Amino acid sequence: MSDKTRTENEIFKAAQAQGMPTRNVMKDDFGFEIPVEAVPLPSRGVCYPVDSPLYGKETIEIRAMTAREEDILTSKALIKKGTVISHLLKSCMVNKDINPDDMLAGDRNAVMTALRITGYGTDYNVEVDCPACSTRSKQAFNLAELPIKRLETNPIADGSNAFEFTLPITKKVVRFSFLDGHAETNIMVMEERKKKSGLSGENLVTTRLKHAITAIDNVTDKGKIDTFIRNMPARDSLALRRHIDKSEPGIEMKSWMDCPHCLETSEVRLPMGASFFWPDAE
Ligand SMILES: [Zn+2]
Repeated sequence: MSDKTRTENEIFKAAQAQGMPTRNVMKDDFGFEIPVEAVPLPSRGVCYPVDSPLYGKETIEIRAMTAREEDILTSKALIKKGTVISHLLKSCMVNKDINPDDMLAGDRNAVMTALRITGYGTDYNVEVDCPACSTRSKQAFNLAELPIKRLETNPIADGSNAFEFTLPITKKVVRFSFLDGHAETNIMVMEERKKKSGLSGENLVTTRLKHAITAIDNVTDKGKIDTFIRNMPARDSLALRRHIDKSEPGIEMKSWMDCPHCLETSEVRLPMGASFFWPDAE
């Protein structure tokens, strides 16, 4: 582990147990204080509107998970609506003025990872496919070791979720935003609908680009942008996707695994499976 990674992880481990701001039964009658923890925001709060409670925030405070949050995680109605994560985040946020749907996907992931750690610890056992031989095996990962990827580029204006990138082939200037909770939920609902109706549809890459791109050379018409996305040169599309992936703030859900089958060591993407919030569920 690099020194940089280690320093970043200290923030996750630092459980700054503070008292709850108000009197409550848990504290007064049972002598138990639900710990409050400061979670770093990978976006550093720079792409939220100036009047947002998230603007300029390097960290936000969360309350550790309790049985109430477990109820949210098992709510069939919320699962069906695709809003489980937003409800979970809302429930744990100390500042109730924050709407989790307004948060960038990467900031949401940081809070979710911190919640998982406060609720069930840092061990994450999950099945992954070996990139070398494709054999699936159960691997043990440490969530506290996942590095935080902070936003390093600046938006086109302070307090805006808008960035620009010039495509290498067509030289068009693409304006894009990082996905937030609203877009994530939309994508999830759309994918679910497509699956149900048996449509393979367009792939997730195109869907995500459609949500991310807001203008191409100052053309903002959605229909025209969609046409451009479908017909843009593959090298432009790849360069744009790589640029967005590279600059998007968040938690690097990547780690190393040793395959028990072919003995190869490979870097893998950690799936956010059921065991992320249900460590004993298999
Ligand atoms: Zn293998």
